[in-house]
Amino acid sequence: MATQLETYHARRAEAIASMGGRCADCGSTENLHIVKRPGTTEKFTVSNIWSREPVTRARLYSLCHLLCGEHAKAKMWNKGSLKHGAYWAAYKKKCPCETCEVYRKENSAKRRADRAAARAAAGLPTRQPPKPKTPKPPKVKAPVAPRPRPTFRPTEVRTVRPFNVVTDLAHLNGRKFPSVIALREALKRTLQKHLGSIPPANGPDRLYDILVQNEWVAPLGNSIIIKLPSLKSDRQIWQERRETERQANADLLAASEVLNAQD
Ligand SMILES: [Zn+2]
Ligand SMILES: [Zn+2]
Repeated sequence: MATQLETYHARRAEAIASMGGRCADCGSTENLHIVKRPGTTEKFTVSNIWSREPVTRARLYSLCHLLCGEHAKAKMWNKGSLKHGAYWAAYKKKCPCETCEVYRKENSAKRRADRAAARAAAGLPTRQPPKPKTPKPPKVKAPVAPRPRPTFRPTEVRTVRPFNVVTDLAHLNGRKFPSVIALREALKRTLQKHLGSIPPANGPDRLYDILVQNEWVAPLGNSIIIKLPSLKSDRQIWQERRETERQANADLLAASEVLNAQD
């Protein structure tokens, strides 16, 4: 049992063979279309022939002929009902014939003129036709002159309070010194800078001992590291000092109360 598609192909091949297998206009055997002969009055649809009885098929084949793709297209555009050189054929059907092409050109020119007239009537500026594009010369970057650097002018001179040694020592934080002597010299310079002079009771040796006791410096191999892990602000230092004082007072009070209770 042949499938519907196989039946269709078989019957179509049969129809083409019965019609001579050539374009009725040019004799081409390529891309053949089965179309009604001109002047056929009987109403039927070509795509419905295939399911008809063999006798009917044979009769309808005689009312059709073959056209190649190009001639079939030409025939389609030359149907009696399509009026060429008119809006429907030219714009809606997009007919490729010369008459319709001319009609499209004329129509668009007329519409352009109408729009220009309407713009002129409305007092709008007339549109200039787009200028033909000229290729731009490639841009050449001009060498950029370096900007003059603003000259630095200090607007504010900060005065350093004389006993803010912790903050001043921050400049030495993390630096490695090749020897203890070098470290002492650095400390000396820092302290001299901000204190004016090193307190005479604390000589350089004494100063180093104090720093070690406060864990500000630590020997590391042949060098010495200054450790100031958390630098405190003046406010923090003041708060801590007040807290220790308060604690000391509280201790003193507690001690005196103990003494009073014993009495
Ligand atoms: Zn042809
Ligand atoms: Zn046309």
